[in-house]
Amino acid sequence: MSYICLKKSGERIAVSKILCVGANYSDHIAEMNPGKPAELPKEPVIFMKPPSAIIRDGENIIFPDVQSELHHEVELIVVIGKDGKNIKAADADSHILGYGVGLDMTLRDLQAEAKKKGRPWTIAKGFDTSAVLSDVVLKNELIQVNDLTLKLFINDVLRQEGHTSNMIFKVSDIIVYLSQFFTLCRGDVIFTGTPKGVGPVQSGDRLRAVLGEYAEVIVSVKKI
Ligand code: MG
Repeated sequence: MSYICLKKSGERIAVSKILCVGANYSDHIAEMNPGKPAELPKEPVIFMKPPSAIIRDGENIIFPDVQSELHHEVELIVVIGKDGKNIKAADADSHILGYGVGLDMTLRDLQAEAKKKGRPWTIAKGFDTSAVLSDVVLKNELIQVNDLTLKLFINDVLRQEGHTSNMIFKVSDIIVYLSQFFTLCRGDVIFTGTPKGVGPVQSGDRLRAVLGEYAEVIVSVKKI
């Protein structure tokens, strides 16, 4: 079973789907399109990962058996606490169980090729071990979700740093948008996009993702 784990109680909740927002920080959009003016999306860019892609603290990210460039993307994750459809902005918060930090691991060259050919990103984003999740902190244990620092260290060197205040679509916007198309279920995980600083990882690297003082997850990268 694929599940999220609550930090304090250790309770496990099954995950039925993982929805992800791409292009949600303007500094990341700029780094992905060098030399071009950063075009901000009018609606969130959405893709999915299967729940079987989840790994947690102490586990390994396994490079699939392809020649590819594997990138880290550190992100705020939101976990849904109450089922909902067509959720209104004023009600969005009541559907949130809690937050954590995650890594949206991405086979960057496969994604670039898919973009160029107009094909889905499914393999580039959804391969086994591509969804790294910390334990989940209940929302009332967090001061303010729009005021948190995200950091990613590789072998103890800071490689990515961002702030949730710079998200183009805020958590409530994302919940309203997604719930028009998908019933959001208790346990569902939402990746909210990465700030600038994405880059490749190598076999043997140790990755530590941190959300303020609230959550962290440590994983290693391995070749098959
Ligand atoms: Mg991402």
